[in-house]
This record gives sequence, C-alpha cells and structure tokens, in this order.
Amino acid sequence: PPSGEPVHDAVTAPLTSADAGRPLVHLARVNKHFGPLHVLQNIDLSVAKGEVVVVIGPSGSGKSTLCRAINRLETIDDGVIELDGKALPQEGKALARLRSDVGMVFQSFNLFAHKSILENVTLGPIKVRKLSKKQATAEAMELLERVGVATQAEKMPAQLSGGQQQRVAIARALAMRPKVMLFDEPTSALDPEMVNEVLDVMVSLAKEGMTMIVVTHEMGFARKAADRVVFMADGQIVEQADPESFFTNPQSERARDFLGKIL
Ligand code: ADP
Ligand code: MG
Repeated sequence: PPSGEPVHDAVTAPLTSADAGRPLVHLARVNKHFGPLHVLQNIDLSVAKGEVVVVIGPSGSGKSTLCRAINRLETIDDGVIELDGKALPQEGKALARLRSDVGMVFQSFNLFAHKSILENVTLGPIKVRKLSKKQATAEAMELLERVGVATQAEKMPAQLSGGQQQRVAIARALAMRPKVMLFDEPTSALDPEMVNEVLDVMVSLAKEGMTMIVVTHEMGFARKAADRVVFMADGQIVEQADPESFFTNPQSERARDFLGKIL
C-alpha cells in the first residue's frame, strides 16, 4: 500500500525481501471461448505478492470469467495460469489445495443458508485444513471479530443484513488462509448504505498486505487501496496504470468512454 505502515498478522503472511516482486498470480496468453465468443483474448497479467489490483470494465468484458479462470471454476482454452510459481492443477487433491489458496468472494453472498454464521466459517477449515472444531471455532471467532460480526455468530445467514453477510463471506474465505483473495463485484448487490462497511474491511485487508484481485467499480476503493487498475473491454486488457493516472488521465478511448459513464 502506498501510505501507512503495513501491518501483518496471522491472516496475511509477512512479506520478506525474497518475495518482493515475485508474481503470486501469473497469467500468460490466456484464451477462453464460449462458443463463438472470444471472452478472454491473450490475457497477460502478473500480480505480485501483496499487490492489490482492481479490475474494471464494461459489463460482459470478461472480468468474472477471468476471476473464475484463476480459481479454475472455469477452464481455459490455452495459455498459462500459475499460482505461486505452480501451474494450475486440472483436478483432484491438488486442485482442492489450490482452491483453498485462492479465496473468492462473489457478488451474491453464497453463504450456506442452513448453517449458522459460525459454522459457515468453520466448515472449510475443519474439512480441508483438518483443524479441530475447537481450533476452527477460535480462529473463526477471531475473523468474525475482525469483520465486525462476532456478535452474530450463532445466527443464520438470513437473519443478517446483506452487508453483514458479505463480511461473513470474507471471513469465511480468509479462514482458509488463502494466498490471494479474489473479489467479484462484492458490493454491487448491496443496498448503498452497506457498501462502505464491506469496502472498509477490504481496505484494511489490503493495508495488511493481502494479495487481492478486486473486480469493482468503486473508485473510492480503487483510489484508497489499489496499487494498479486494470481496464478490460471485450475480453482484452486495454490499459493498466496506478489509480490516480488511470482515473485522471485514461489513455484509451474505451476507458475514457467507460469512465464518462460511471463517474
Ligand atoms: P463481466 O464479468 O465483465 O461482466 P463475464 O466474464 O461475466 O463478464 O462475461 C463475459 C462474456 O461471456 C459475456 O458476454 C457473457 O455473456 C459471456 N459468458 C459468461 N459466462 C458464460 C457461459 N457460461 N456461457 C456462455 N457465455 C458466457
Ligand atoms: Mg461479472
């Protein structure tokens, strides 16, 4: 982060000089078609450890597909996607492990409706990280505290507001100790008054050194937390720059046009 002392805690591993500059997420010449639609076109993107990248662009430009490809929720036709120096596994145990390295938060909150808030956060760690229920509960309560919903732990998701549910979704993803967090329009389904409580959690995560790829049109978040803005249109990365340069001086007609519509 450009300002403020980065604070590291148990959630985000400390950055060491050996890690500096090494891409944690690396995509090279990635292509993906849906039938005749070339939805990802020769995508090259490297995200360094601790870097926060905001992806913006018109609806249908391939932003969600990009996130889903990084998590292997979507296959790619060709190209390379590496996480922490390793190619994405196709299936099996290695894929399950990779999935737990990549935390994902979607537009819709996706909590397990029939599990309590606490269970939503402990299930993965018990099943995948093989934590005891006691240990998982202790870690989950710490995370729920961090995102400001610890008092809701025994409730069911439907009893919480959208903003609270989305903060639980973030805690649930963090409970797997991911190396990178992907956010796909995490605030776009929220009532306006709940947007900031979710963005605030994301900003503090960014400041603590978490590697993040965030699809969002929230310029305030990009300005506060992003190291880089990547602008996508029609399946391509059209331009990328630091947030200040991108918002004040976009280089492409596409970006100028897009910013004119959303600002
Ligand atoms: P964005 O997130 O930028 O709005 P998406 O990645 O969701 O864009 O979609 C990119 C394009 O791919 C859109 O035209 C969308 O309709 C299409 N698309 C997405 N998922 C599928 C799918 N499973 N099958 C066919 N087309 C899809
Ligand atoms: Mg999308």
